[in-house]
Amino acid sequence: MTSMRIATSGVVSRRQAMSGAVCLAGAAAVGTIFAPHVARAQAPHALPPLPWADNALDPVISSNTIGFHYGKHHKGYLDAMNAALGNGAKDLAPLPLLDLMKTTSANPGRAALFNAAAQVWNHTFYWSSLRPGGGGKPPAGSKIAAKIDSDLGGYDKFRETMKATSVGQFASGWGWLVEENGKLACVRTPNAETPATVQGRKPLLTIDVWEHAYYLDYQNRRADYVDALLDKLINWEFAEKNLG
Ligand code: MN
Repeated sequence: MTSMRIATSGVVSRRQAMSGAVCLAGAAAVGTIFAPHVARAQAPHALPPLPWADNALDPVISSNTIGFHYGKHHKGYLDAMNAALGNGAKDLAPLPLLDLMKTTSANPGRAALFNAAAQVWNHTFYWSSLRPGGGGKPPAGSKIAAKIDSDLGGYDKFRETMKATSVGQFASGWGWLVEENGKLACVRTPNAETPATVQGRKPLLTIDVWEHAYYLDYQNRRADYVDALLDKLINWEFAEKNLG
């Protein structure tokens, strides 16, 4: 039990030191402790469990969508990453996930491995960005609410910007709320690209705008999907924790 406590506090201090959004790397110290948003840090990496039941977001996101998105897409990226780490990229197998992402993002020869690893991280972060009964304004008195007012012109303006940023991503990608240089910003990334590997940019929340995230429930209506997430699913407690 003593070692468990030491390991846990090690994660917290490392998380605080490196920012709240990089807790995947912090999990390196603890192997057996398995929070929903934390992936095990050595190959073969494990698929983190969903933070809620697969029908918990219904009807905003159906269990059918979650079944494919988590069970096929997220797992597919994980399997591809583990296969590479067990074969041509064994030298990178000991790295915690975030370190693996940073290393491969700087190396065009490792683009396929970066794409798989970043998609593993992005999806784990996405699941935690959502919760049943979430969405709408952040809790009054929270740090994130105050920063949305001071940095983004208030909740209504944030909602408008986050929606436009996410809906406006051409083809596949992600909408993000991040903190950069101490200020909140809405940004988007294509494909597997992620703010998690960008120095000084701290991810707080994400919206997956790949078609597989919404097509079974919303078909081509990406804007309706983004509206529904913003109003009904956003996990402000997760954003608050990431803000630190
Ligand atoms: Mn996805």
